[in-house]
Amino acid sequence: MANLKHKLENPIFHQIAQVAKESNTKVYVIGGYVRDLLLGIPCKDLDFVIAGSGIEFAQKIGEKLKCKRNVVVYRNFGTAMLRYRGIELEFVGARKESYDRNSRKPIVEDGTLDDDQKRRDFTINALAISLNPEDFGELTDPFNGLKDLENQIIKTPLDPDITFSDDPLRMLRAIRFACRLGFTIHPQTEAAIAKNKERMSIVSKERIVDELNKIMMTNNPSVGFKLLDKTGLLELILPQLTKLKGVEVKEGRAHKEIFLHTLQVLDNVAAVSDNMWLRYAALFHDIAKPNVKKFINNTWTFHNHEFIGAKMIPTIFKAMKLPLNDKMKYVQKIVGMHHRAIPISNNEITDSAVRRLMYDAGTDLDDLLILCEADITSKIEEKKIKFLNNYKIVRRKIKELEQKDFRRTWQPPIDGNFIMETFNLKPSRLVGQIKDCIKDSILDGKIENTFEAAYNLMLKKGEENGLKPVKNLSENK
Ligand code: ATP
Ligand code: MG
Repeated sequence: MANLKHKLENPIFHQIAQVAKESNTKVYVIGGYVRDLLLGIPCKDLDFVIAGSGIEFAQKIGEKLKCKRNVVVYRNFGTAMLRYRGIELEFVGARKESYDRNSRKPIVEDGTLDDDQKRRDFTINALAISLNPEDFGELTDPFNGLKDLENQIIKTPLDPDITFSDDPLRMLRAIRFACRLGFTIHPQTEAAIAKNKERMSIVSKERIVDELNKIMMTNNPSVGFKLLDKTGLLELILPQLTKLKGVEVKEGRAHKEIFLHTLQVLDNVAAVSDNMWLRYAALFHDIAKPNVKKFINNTWTFHNHEFIGAKMIPTIFKAMKLPLNDKMKYVQKIVGMHHRAIPISNNEITDSAVRRLMYDAGTDLDDLLILCEADITSKIEEKKIKFLNNYKIVRRKIKELEQKDFRRTWQPPIDGNFIMETFNLKPSRLVGQIKDCIKDSILDGKIENTFEAAYNLMLKKGEENGLKPVKNLSENK
């Protein structure tokens, strides 16, 4: 067996070994930390398994490290956690698990290290390193996890059918690890996911979203979504996405395959932004296309798909138990606006169109442009270069306008209250019309972006509608 003593650089391992010796208890570092250590990936979340009580051991460690008060005990789970110098240490007694068909929660009894390794989800997550004096650093690898790490394979230690049926969340974890590490799921393990997909019904939506978010935050989330689709899980988790699949042909004309296009856009966004909600906007940007698809005059059209798509977001978020807050509104806004910049960048790029885009997108403008650029997935290189170049011009124009007189957080210099006070009006459609006229005139460059110009236009519009100011400028200002 390999000895990994040289890799255990953090002094914490020696302190833990000391406590193990003093208390005559066996302790091992296990799971994700060992996997990441062998892969050379930094990991700040360490799991320890103890042949005995995890809680008692954690308390002893707390004493040793003089931070007893930081030990958090989870009696129900028989575990304890300790945050220490930026890392998170979790202690659990070695256990044996058995499952009831209707729940992911196992019946737990005390067990050996071997029992504990058997309850782990994948061979690469079942590796343990001894922290005991007689064999400090020794790797315990009963399921050939090291070999699977080298061969980049995700495989369950026991029969995958049982492993997944016991805790179906593991199916999503398999896909998440495959996606994050670029590993392949072993054919039998993958087949068992497809076979047990319906077992997802016992997993809470919150846990599903948790895993989905982690897949979203990998470097190439498309890999995860393709696996979710291949195994049949996507149909159960996000059926709206699987509706994007396929190509229809009419009179010899085919439209773009929207599912693969979407995943490409998602990866493109992921390459330049860590904003998970922008990544969700990418995932859903064309979600309404199947609903509005029409074949007219020998071409495929998807009119208004962005607006209908934005309207679909709350339903999807609610079904998925994604948050129904400002994050959802942000996704809606980006989805709804993702076609706004296209005509601007395709035609002559006018100041007024760019000002309008800046006003409507506000502080989300940069994110919107990231999605717009990511959305260019044309296989024809010249087209791609041309479109990308147009966005460069849009970005330049935004900078120019910002330097001149226009901020993306701009608000018209005169608001509805001011109009009502000036003409002694109650809230009404006319107030809205005057307000919009001022806003539009500034955006279109018809009047200057100043209070004076706005004020004069307001008076003119009032006069046209038979209104006289009841307050003059000095009173009102
Ligand atoms: P990461 O922390 O990067 O998400 P991880 O493998 O450390 O990956 P954790 O959720 O921190 O994942 O779990 C720690 C360890 O506990 C895993 O490596 C695995 O051995 C085990 N484990 C976690 N969840 C399960 C599960 N649902 N079924 C079986 N074993 C699990
Ligand atoms: Mg972990």
